[in-house]
Amino acid sequence: MATTISINPYSGKEIKSYNNHTKKEVEEIIDKADKRFYNWRETSFAQRKKLMLAAAFELKENKEEYAETMTLEMGKPISQALAEVEKCAWVCEYYAENAEEQLQNKIIKTDAHKSYVSYEPLGVVLAVMPWNYPFWQVFRFAAPALMAGNIGVLKHASNVFGSALNIEKVFKRAGFPEHCFTTLLVGSDAVAEIIENEKVKAVTLTGSGPAGSSVASIAGKNIKKTVLELGGNNALVVLRDCDMEKTIATCVQARFQNTGQSCIAGKRLIIDASISEEFVEKLVHKVRELKSGNPMSEETFVGTLAREDLAKDLEKQVNDSVEAGAKVVIGGNRLEAYFDPTVLTHVTEKMPAFKQETFGPVLSVTTFKNVNEAIALSNNSKFGLGVSIFTKDIEEAQKMAFQFDEGAVFINELVKSDPRLPFGGVKESGYGRELSINGIHEFVNKKTVYINK
Ligand code: NAP
Repeated sequence: MATTISINPYSGKEIKSYNNHTKKEVEEIIDKADKRFYNWRETSFAQRKKLMLAAAFELKENKEEYAETMTLEMGKPISQALAEVEKCAWVCEYYAENAEEQLQNKIIKTDAHKSYVSYEPLGVVLAVMPWNYPFWQVFRFAAPALMAGNIGVLKHASNVFGSALNIEKVFKRAGFPEHCFTTLLVGSDAVAEIIENEKVKAVTLTGSGPAGSSVASIAGKNIKKTVLELGGNNALVVLRDCDMEKTIATCVQARFQNTGQSCIAGKRLIIDASISEEFVEKLVHKVRELKSGNPMSEETFVGTLAREDLAKDLEKQVNDSVEAGAKVVIGGNRLEAYFDPTVLTHVTEKMPAFKQETFGPVLSVTTFKNVNEAIALSNNSKFGLGVSIFTKDIEEAQKMAFQFDEGAVFINELVKSDPRLPFGGVKESGYGRELSINGIHEFVNKKTVYINK
């Protein structure tokens, strides 16, 4: 029987070994999930709302338990893990309160006596999820999917199986009927067969480009709907007239929270050359103050990366960029899974630190001479998840927003997800949207009903 071992990236010690589900067990779980669908879809919005609010309550009630597992499994600082659990409660509450209205029949006037669109669940939806926000990524899928009457089956990243089981536990403790939400303990090699299972109706994946491409092509072959939330290489575009102190604080947060392991992190600082020297000097001062250490300590802001191999990949991107002419102003060193908060200047478009997604605490700095150049630099990316613009000229920034190839433009704010707003990308950042009314509309059959007397 295959097993998956979970390692604490801070201590390097084994946390637990999990027996993977066998093919037969996976099939049985999907069969049970499919059976559950036919009565879950008959439940009223009021019943689902009660259960989803109970899930929110459970998250808040036992947040320490859930946060601790995340921190032990992937090195996220505990204060950020606690905040993540609370945010999951928020998305549960948001959909508990809004799903009914978002999915009510939409009357459309035609030649018919009456015609409308109804929004009906699809059935079992497979969620393939990453380790970086082990709870949030899953809940932002699960809350709308379950409220719409779908069933969730989770294949979580192999280093966070404890969190995956905890998520199943949240729904169980909240009182959801069995098999409304189940975790499969399997590796990525089992995913193709799960997608091909005729009882699985759709797939959502949050993760890397190669994983997204593989999942989408198998789903495509089987004519199944997909939503893909992939990588990002967001720019922080800093104009000359920005509020420097506030902008620096926001940029540090945007790049270094979650130890830089976020798809929407601001990875490329693109700054007006006339203010770059003063800005970078002050920014480096703030970076120096960031507290690194044991992620279980409340004080820690920067933890270890989730796995040592990820820290080694990051080290190579930094070293290759330095070899190509980038300068390390602070950081640049790795110790096992830990990577120093790092700022690189003199970064050009050809360097890995600009072209590739750096999934860790490394900020690259590139300067521009005029706004058109800034927009071109920001758009020079295969990704299109989001961008932040910092300026006091809000009107001008709003005009600029149109020119960015991104799923989101945030002015004087870091790019962040909010249950009330759609979230997702363009280009190689994926397609489809999560959160808001757009998210709940992804996994429903938009059924046309036409009635003549
Ligand atoms: P990853 O390697 O793609 O893993 C994500 C999930 O996909 C895991 O459950 C993984 O399982 C599975 N997987 C990997 N290869 C697969 C394949 N060929 N077929 C089917 N499933 C496969 O990504 P990661 O390293 O965990 O996460 C980092 C990436 O995710 C970054 O690029 C980041 O930007 C992106 N991300 C995007 C968003 C967003 O909302 N746009 C949010 C967070 C992260 P195993 O663990 O078993 O391999």
